[in-house]
Amino acid sequence: MRKPPPVPAPTAARPGLVTLVGAGPGDPDLLTVKAARALAQAEVVLHDHLVSDAVLALVPAEADCIYVGKESAHHALPQDEIIALMLRLARSGRRVLRLKGGDPYIFGRGGEEAQALAEAGIAFEVIPGISAAQGAAASAGIPLTHRDHAASVLCVTGHLRAGTCDPLGLDWPALARPRQTLVVYMGVAALPEISAGLIRHGLAPDTPAAIVERATLPGQRTLVGTLRSLPALARRSAVRTPALIVVGSVVQLQARLAPHAAQAPGPFEPEVLVAA
Ligand code: SAH
Repeated sequence: MRKPPPVPAPTAARPGLVTLVGAGPGDPDLLTVKAARALAQAEVVLHDHLVSDAVLALVPAEADCIYVGKESAHHALPQDEIIALMLRLARSGRRVLRLKGGDPYIFGRGGEEAQALAEAGIAFEVIPGISAAQGAAASAGIPLTHRDHAASVLCVTGHLRAGTCDPLGLDWPALARPRQTLVVYMGVAALPEISAGLIRHGLAPDTPAAIVERATLPGQRTLVGTLRSLPALARRSAVRTPALIVVGSVVQLQARLAPHAAQAPGPFEPEVLVAA
């Protein structure tokens, strides 16, 4: 194997490089080879709360590892300060690894960070990651598309926007289309509104729906029900973030396809809760 080129010592004259790295949904084995290599060579790491401990364990002990947080409601650093810190470190000649859960360009605000880097004239690269939807689909046994069920998949954010008259700001008719799988990131807090909105816009109340909590992580749980039953099941089961909502008839396949994931040896034993 080729040896990586030596890294020149940082100087103020050499602008740093920022690598936006997707950490995947949690299981470190789901990192790309390129992401694992970048982590092994990291100098300064800025990471979000979604990055799992198992992935952070791959950061070399001598690297500076800075938590910049972002659990909705209690941000460790507001987004503009994260960007300012990243620019400052890069301008001082450091090689910055910006580590984000899942994929940096899917609901990760990686796009905004890349824009700021482009505007500042700082070189950057993006290493994609497995997004939570893909991780959850594989580990819960819910294919996102399937010829008998769904010809398209739509990923949306269910994050509530405080102070607006339509706090979800969603295109409901598009969400309620037939033969489509709907994946809602950041949607658990708004699940009752999402469920009611989809029913109001034409989806049957008995449309299969699931929540995959802590996908690919120890303690993963899958809650399976329908649009009507899922909000109560989620409440009863005290669902915590990170969790993803999946709506559509592909959810029915979970009963047949999940046991294969559960047979994997080791501590990873996903739990499945079902409501009618
Ligand atoms: N960039 C990330 C998404 C960031 S938004 C990605 O591509 O996956 C954060 C949301 O992602 C969480 O609120 C949750 O809905 C979802 N999420 C992230 N990791 C998850 C996991 N391991 N299990 C379930 N949902 C997850």
